[in-house]
Amino acid sequence: MDGVGKVYLVGAGPGDPELITQKGLRLLQTCDVVIYDRLASIGLLKYLKEDCVKINVGKIVGNHAINQEEINRIIVEQAKLHKRVVRLKGGDPFVFGRGGEEILTMEQHGIPYEVVPGITSSIAVPAYAGIPVTHRGASQSFSVVTGHTAEREGSLPEDFKHLAKLEGTLVILMGVGNLEKIAATLMEYGRPPSTPVAVVANGTTIWQEEARGTLQDICQRVKEADIKAPAVIIVGDVAAVHFRSKEEFALSGIKVGVTGTPNITDKLQQELEGLGAAIEVISQSTLQVYKDNREFDEALKSIEAYRWLVFTSTNAVELCFGRWKELQLDFRRLAKLRFAVVGKGTEEALLKQGFRADFLPSQANAVALAKELGALAKQGGDRLLIPRAEQGSEELASILEENSLCFDDIKIYDIQEADRELLPDAGQLRKFDYLTFASASGVHGLLKGMSEEELEQLKAVDMVCIGEATGQALEEYGFVHLLMAHEASASGMVQRILESVQEKERLL
Ligand code: SAH
Repeated sequence: MDGVGKVYLVGAGPGDPELITQKGLRLLQTCDVVIYDRLASIGLLKYLKEDCVKINVGKIVGNHAINQEEINRIIVEQAKLHKRVVRLKGGDPFVFGRGGEEILTMEQHGIPYEVVPGITSSIAVPAYAGIPVTHRGASQSFSVVTGHTAEREGSLPEDFKHLAKLEGTLVILMGVGNLEKIAATLMEYGRPPSTPVAVVANGTTIWQEEARGTLQDICQRVKEADIKAPAVIIVGDVAAVHFRSKEEFALSGIKVGVTGTPNITDKLQQELEGLGAAIEVISQSTLQVYKDNREFDEALKSIEAYRWLVFTSTNAVELCFGRWKELQLDFRRLAKLRFAVVGKGTEEALLKQGFRADFLPSQANAVALAKELGALAKQGGDRLLIPRAEQGSEELASILEENSLCFDDIKIYDIQEADRELLPDAGQLRKFDYLTFASASGVHGLLKGMSEEELEQLKAVDMVCIGEATGQALEEYGFVHLLMAHEASASGMVQRILESVQEKERLL
């Protein structure tokens, strides 16, 4: 049908953003609008095109959640406005996902659609907790059931009595609120009170929590562990199995929230995972935006006028050389130019472009760079070019100015505030053991706009920063006990976390 877009009902997987299918990911990367709710990992939204429209239908507006009829209406409306619509649903769209209802509405309106299955929480959440839903000798089958009926609040579906009589594993979704009734009914209709039960909340995410017990005592255990929805309840012998490697690594059991742009988060993720830590990348990938900048283009075109090109961020390195190529300038013109970088991270970024740094200050901060490089440049009467972020520190420029150096400080990129909706809230952030920050702008991106109360909640988290400017930004939000990397790079931050973990272990 002309003028109507296609709607893809995409299973987002159970929570870990890496558990989406390749097809689902490709559709997310190319869609014009995404309609999502709270069960779909926000970590996935970083893959969207910059101009993709994001509609959160999991929001609580005033006091009520957007209901299914309203969601159906939004899907139809969006299909009429856009070509490629992704309706992103937690787990698999057809496992208690109300995907069918959305499809019926689309059929009524003649809207083309396609279903992309997802990994359902009913299997993946037990798996991440070390529970196989079937296991030789323990369970030959499993049933996935709902522990709650939409029709009558607080009541169990009728067939629970029959389910009690089944031999295999019971996987119950949407059941934590009814746990007491579920356990009582299963015992009443024949399951022994000693039957193993596991309750796993926020499974496959860094916030995964679980309680284990038996039909008899699981309610007590869940209360003690303060476990809340969303959770999967697993009933049967397999619920006593712990298929999780007992191998211990230096950072096993440590939760790290990693912020920054991919050039730094990719490295941190790799190194930290290798050491056994659980990582959540808090994506701020939409942060740096190149500004179309005449002044900078002119500077690049007359690059021979400068003796030094100075970098204070890895983003500046990448954007600067990106622009160089866009302008089709010749790399041979850089032969006489010297390069100064603020720290190891920028040094590595520069090396990736094929250049060795000529100058690195004794400490990785703007002040040391300005003073030490300034002294050197002054002797030769050199001219400096400094491409940097709109929001970067003014210190470098003001020290160079005080020393009457000749330089061009050009703001080549803008740091857009990350969309708060794409970020975890304070309640989630405080569950991390460590949060890493690789730039002052990354700090503002995450913390700006948080209330005093929210910031207070984060005081228990150890903040790791790449260098002093980042540390100062954290201090502005009242964080005082900071872990400063000894070396300004991803490895430097990982090293600092390792030291801190070892210190804590010694104190225990
Ligand atoms: N379509 C989804 C299920 C939707 S029903 C799927 O296939 O996974 C919503 C229920 O799924 C929640 O109440 C909870 O029981 C379960 N659930 C979904 N994600 C979960 C997660 N990450 N951890 C624990 N339970 C989860």
